[in-house]
Amino acid sequence: MTLLNIIIAVAIGAAIWTASMAVIRAVANPPPAIDPDDVVETRRRFRCSLCGTEVTMTATNTTATNPPRHCREEMDEVPIT
Ligand SMILES: [Zn+2]
Repeated sequence: MTLLNIIIAVAIGAAIWTASMAVIRAVANPPPAIDPDDVVETRRRFRCSLCGTEVTMTATNTTATNPPRHCREEMDEVPIT
């Protein structure tokens, strides 16, 4: 084993370590805490345009502007009957 092989091995090890730690840090950071004052009661109904699943929303966060997602698509709001 030459000195060059050792240097290459250490460099590859350092690269793998750095990439692994970046992935672990990204996964380990929790989302920010929810302010309870931002959650209000509501009554809205949404339907998934792909599979037909329907949900009734009874509480919503005032900072959330997008509809819920299902099948990786935003759900369509439907009137409550
Ligand atoms: Zn769906």
